[in-house]
Amino acid sequence: MSHPAAGPGMVHEAGGGVYRVWLDGGGEVEASLRGRVKQDRRTGDRVVVGDRVDVAPAGSGWAVERVHPRGTELVRRGLGGRLAKVLAANVDQVLAVVAARDPDPTPSLVDRLLAVAESSGVPPVLVVNKVDLPGGRETAEELRRLYEGVGYRVVGASAATEEGMEGVADILRGHMSVLMGPSGAGKSSLLNALHPDLALRTGELSARTGRGRHTTVSSRLIRLECGGVVADTPGIGDVGTWGMSPEDVAHCFPEIVRFEPGCRFGGCAHLKEPDCGVRQAVDEGLMAGSRYRSYVTLREEAAAAGERRPGG
Ligand code: GDP
Ligand code: ZN
Repeated sequence: MSHPAAGPGMVHEAGGGVYRVWLDGGGEVEASLRGRVKQDRRTGDRVVVGDRVDVAPAGSGWAVERVHPRGTELVRRGLGGRLAKVLAANVDQVLAVVAARDPDPTPSLVDRLLAVAESSGVPPVLVVNKVDLPGGRETAEELRRLYEGVGYRVVGASAATEEGMEGVADILRGHMSVLMGPSGAGKSSLLNALHPDLALRTGELSARTGRGRHTTVSSRLIRLECGGVVADTPGIGDVGTWGMSPEDVAHCFPEIVRFEPGCRFGGCAHLKEPDCGVRQAVDEGLMAGSRYRSYVTLREEAAAAGERRPGG
């Protein structure tokens, strides 16, 4: 059996101190971290799936020698004094997956998903699944009008009937993506429809959260037949606010970024301040009221979380 040569690759599975690496030159190895690499990383900032690394033979196995700088990081900032946690590296898009029905999509849920992606600097695409259900296509159409107006790409699909699945495959092809969205939206089903060999149990994607202290849950990358890679990381599908600061929240709404130069005061929170360009845009119908309300809600949540955070 030939041995793969040392070299660069990408971490495709991480958990319990073991890192599986796809080598650029072909093949894969299981590596541990060298002490030096462990110390190089800031506390709480581990080697994660999607990281580009150099590996070399070490003892009877392999070791990660170096971690390359990351293009992007999906970061959940710590609440209650917990450290920030990097969930995946080099992800270049988020698929915000909601169902057209069951569970019904609320504007605040959709806005939360999009904002979490924006907070990590990763562009989101909105996928509206289950368009086969009664009224599903109409709901998808309403969402398309609203969110294309903001500037987002929106696709409707059905994992059940495979309607629109070429559109989903087109979005995933050539990218490293994560699927975020509430449980039951159909994230596992969409991947199964694209890649039947995966045979994910429904609800399985990103739901492997180990609650017990001794449960080791690994993160992994899934290579799809359509030529994309999807990061399946426990906790990544959750739809909290990921520890954004109140000021961050405004920057996660592209229309607010667009209209805030019209605010009289720098640092305007767009809440009660006079001559606010953002509130004026809402009054004139240039920004959707539902989007503005989501902004206010997420901002209040972020402020409340910040007050609970020691020193924050
Ligand atoms: P996840 O929690 O986001 O991974 O969602 P699942 O993939 O587990 O799907 C949740 C439920 O919705 C399952 O019972 C699926 O069979 C069902 N489901 C998923 N996609 C569709 C779809 O396009 N249409 C319909 N009618 N049901 C779907
Ligand atoms: Zn303002």
